[in-house]
Amino acid sequence: MKEEIRCGGCRALLFKCETNAVAGAIEIKCRRCRQINQLRPMSPSPSAVRAASGE
Ligand SMILES: [Zn+2]
Repeated sequence: MKEEIRCGGCRALLFKCETNAVAGAIEIKCRRCRQINQLRPMSPSPSAVRAASGE
């Protein structure tokens, strides 16, 4: 099953991966709004890391 990982700031699609495909933390910068999304396997939703964006 594929999971869509979206930007926590603008909801742009960042990438797709299989569920549990990610073993460690990921940082990915949104090319649209330049927000850095920090993703973790336990909580793959970027919306949980909005506090780290410096908004
Ligand atoms: Zn974005």
